[in-house]
Amino acid sequence: MSNSTKYVFVTGGVASSLGKGIISASLAKLLQARGYSTTIQKLDPYINVDPGTLNPYEHGECFVTDDGAETDLDLGHYERFLNVPTSQANNVTTGKIYQSVIEKERRGEFLGKTVQIIPHITNEIKERIQLLGEKGTYDIVITEIGGTVGDIESLPYVEAVRQMRWEMEDDCIVIHLTLVPYLAAAGELKTKPTQHSVKQLLELGVQPDILCCRTEHELDLNLRRKIAKFCNVSMNAVIEARDADTIYDVPLLMQSEELDKVVLEKLSLPTKSVPNLDQWNEFVDRLKNPKSEVEIGLIGKYVELKDAYKSISESFIQAGASNEVKVNVKWIHSEKINRDNADDLLVDLDGILVAPGFGSRGISGKIETVRFARENKVPFLGICLGMQCAVIEFARNVLNLPEAHTTEIVEDCKSPVINMMEEQKNISNLGGTMRLGAYECQLTTGSNVSEAYNSDKISERHRHRFEFNNEYLEQFEQNGMKATGKNPHTGLVEVVEVEDHPWFVGTQFHPEYKSTVVNPHPLFVAFVKAAVSNKK
Ligand code: GLN
Repeated sequence: MSNSTKYVFVTGGVASSLGKGIISASLAKLLQARGYSTTIQKLDPYINVDPGTLNPYEHGECFVTDDGAETDLDLGHYERFLNVPTSQANNVTTGKIYQSVIEKERRGEFLGKTVQIIPHITNEIKERIQLLGEKGTYDIVITEIGGTVGDIESLPYVEAVRQMRWEMEDDCIVIHLTLVPYLAAAGELKTKPTQHSVKQLLELGVQPDILCCRTEHELDLNLRRKIAKFCNVSMNAVIEARDADTIYDVPLLMQSEELDKVVLEKLSLPTKSVPNLDQWNEFVDRLKNPKSEVEIGLIGKYVELKDAYKSISESFIQAGASNEVKVNVKWIHSEKINRDNADDLLVDLDGILVAPGFGSRGISGKIETVRFARENKVPFLGICLGMQCAVIEFARNVLNLPEAHTTEIVEDCKSPVINMMEEQKNISNLGGTMRLGAYECQLTTGSNVSEAYNSDKISERHRHRFEFNNEYLEQFEQNGMKATGKNPHTGLVEVVEVEDHPWFVGTQFHPEYKSTVVNPHPLFVAFVKAAVSNKK
């Protein structure tokens, strides 16, 4: 069978957290820079239908796509590297696969057959992989298999890869990412774990075409030869993946290892032009040579786990490079902040971001933080729950509504300045039922936000159940908090700004999901710029 779309699978062995997502995104970047339209897909072996209901401590940030999918944070890396939006189809979980197979069974689509892992589950997996290729939009689809080869959970995925390679011959290759650990006592890099991991893949019927070896030290020629020989791969297909200073170096490291060239050769595709990475190099150059530094506080309740705010911290890196400054993010736990210590904890910050979130833990610290930023005229960005806290703070301290709150925390509160959307009220299922994905927003001409975007019409991604309560809008506006962004169709307030403040913006949407290397997000760029002007 010949197929115009080519498939690259990325598996991992020896240990988790080797960075399959970054290697996949880097390879995609290089192929894109050679003129191939490329997309990346992540297959996650867990049984949750999506990570939307997972606690960030379990899984890090939940990334949201334009079409409203709640996905793995690796999709954020894909978008940041490629500057191309992903969609529902780019993240598949075991939960989704089984849900769909079971629904088909209930509809009688299997005509009375016994439904089994092979072929029904593996067929469903193969269909999901090929769905991205079928549209004809992509020359190359890179599919990252989550987890580690040998895990019980990932067996059906590896089996689907084996079948696809058999069925599609030249149109499929497998890259296996492994670890080559350094044993300090022996003073040596060790290849045995890699050999074992490849053996494990072979037992499942898959011979990898390329090995990417994560290592702290140089893989010399002897080691490369040894790995090639024991793992049946060609010498040029043993790729060194050295630890990098920043993830943004990885495409450049992979380019010098010629990973993209080897991939194209193995897929029998022409190498076309040398990848044009001018914009990328410019970005890395600015990132590594900042002219000054700023301190920005990130106030959230998951600060022990930096992955929970991945897109926000990457947005700061991109906006910092764009402003030629290094943004030092000071992670502050919202539960630690109260009226008495807020001044001491926050006084050194040049800018303050209050993070998104759910539930009551740490919310009073967030509200205190907003008060500090508003009263002391510190540049402020509040995202989603952060914006809602800004509204609550303003209501309590300026509008004199001491019992103002969100109905998420106090259901029957006296002044519900943030309350549940009408269409959310009868929903009992938690999965995938929030207001999700991209919505249009009309900005007020001349506001800080419209200046930042240099446009009055924008589209941004949402993930929430609660909203600004428009019954209070007039009161807010008369007292200096303006709704400078609204949904043009529903009138929902999407952006608030405080007048008489250098830069105070709260957004109901999540700008961080749309910041990329090539297009750092305008709100983050403007926020960092305001923080630079406010430098202590
Ligand atoms: N918990 C809030 C809501 O559901 C905010 C959500 C968020 O910050 N993403 O409206």
